Amino acid sequence: MDPQSALAIHGGAPAVPAALPTIRNSTGRDIGKEELALLQEVVQSGSLSFLYGTMVSRFEQAFAALHEMRNAVAVSSGTAAIHTALVYLDVGPGDEVAVPAITDMGSVIPILLQNAIPVFVDVNPADSTIDPDDLRRKISDRTKAVQVVHLYGYPCRMDEVLEICRPRGIPVVEDCAQALMTKYKGRAVGTIGDIGCFSFQQSKHITTGDGGMVISKRDSEYGRKLRLCADKGWPREVYRDHLFLAPAYHMTELQAAVGVAQLAKAERFVEARVSAAEALLDELSDIEGISGLPVVPWASPTYHLFPLRVDLTVFSVGTAALSEALRAEGLEADPGYIPHPIYEYPIVKDRITYGQSGCPYTCEWAPPVTIQSAEDCVNAEAVCKGSLVLAWNEFYTDKHIREISSAFHKVLSYYRK
Ligand SMILES: *Cc1c(COP(=O)(O)O)cnc(C)c1O
Repeated sequence: MDPQSALAIHGGAPAVPAALPTIRNSTGRDIGKEELALLQEVVQSGSLSFLYGTMVSRFEQAFAALHEMRNAVAVSSGTAAIHTALVYLDVGPGDEVAVPAITDMGSVIPILLQNAIPVFVDVNPADSTIDPDDLRRKISDRTKAVQVVHLYGYPCRMDEVLEICRPRGIPVVEDCAQALMTKYKGRAVGTIGDIGCFSFQQSKHITTGDGGMVISKRDSEYGRKLRLCADKGWPREVYRDHLFLAPAYHMTELQAAVGVAQLAKAERFVEARVSAAEALLDELSDIEGISGLPVVPWASPTYHLFPLRVDLTVFSVGTAALSEALRAEGLEADPGYIPHPIYEYPIVKDRITYGQSGCPYTCEWAPPVTIQSAEDCVNAEAVCKGSLVLAWNEFYTDKHIREISSAFHKVLSYYRK
């Protein structure tokens, strides 16, 4: 066989000869002198806490301004942001929270920590976001909140979701952990529902190592209550008083210093990710049996990752073997965003929650709850089996895109039936 076209897993030359930029290190993250200057300011100030410093509030104000929201509360992670939102909404035992079956576990953990029941909703097969028709079926009179996830930085069908939730008075939490600056019908995600939650974990559009932000326009008092929900329910102007049960999820001044510098670069990161993704979609358009995120007028995705749907009838192997071959070519490719829908993880399936108590599913204190299974989310099952998900990066050049494209052409033509 021609060594140029032999697959790298068969000993051929890899299509991507040098390592691609990655979020794991400085090849794929722009963290430099701007961050250092602000970090120095914090260190010299002597205060690393939001209580006495100014950097956390500076980051919050910049983030709020970007989203044209009056207030924003910085927290310690994206998971913490979602938990803070659920505490704000008084989610508790006996409540149900609807959430898509494909997401990061960080969307689901806060629901269970409130001893509420996550009700998994199926996804649209083309873009993996929540399916409004299935949401309508899964809403009950116990639904306390609906969480949508703008997965991969692709916006959910917010109008349809709000049309279901608004008449029933159910608040909508937007999980924007992968979707900074994503737009739905020209509006930034996180500003459309009731509360928007963001993550600044190392892999997200901007990073503070770990960190998160909650924004909301719910009511004029929200800024105060939202802050209490991430600060032990403690109104700081009062001497050691605690108004309700709430975690302590503070962001530090050091993280916020990095956040302020990162946020100033965010638009550049997002634009570079989008134009690289559009270039790759163009390069791959001649390959039958794969399709990228749908290009439609109402969606302006920002490509946290680059997913492809795979028509499994066209290839002789599944996505696990395809991603292994692509990895050998030098791509960071995975078979699906997660290996299976969330309800198949032991946390849900085997109720591994609070030790052996089984709460909130089978709890001494509460009526038992039915655990969901594959029949409930047929699209989510298909999407997990029939997707390839590529790591994405704002430092990908035209040359990288051509190399990634040639890896796909090589691997997919080899395994075509
Ligand atoms: C990353 C992520 C989270 C959790 O954020 P952390 O900062 O890692 O806690 C939640 N939801 C989605 C969709 C994510 O991608």
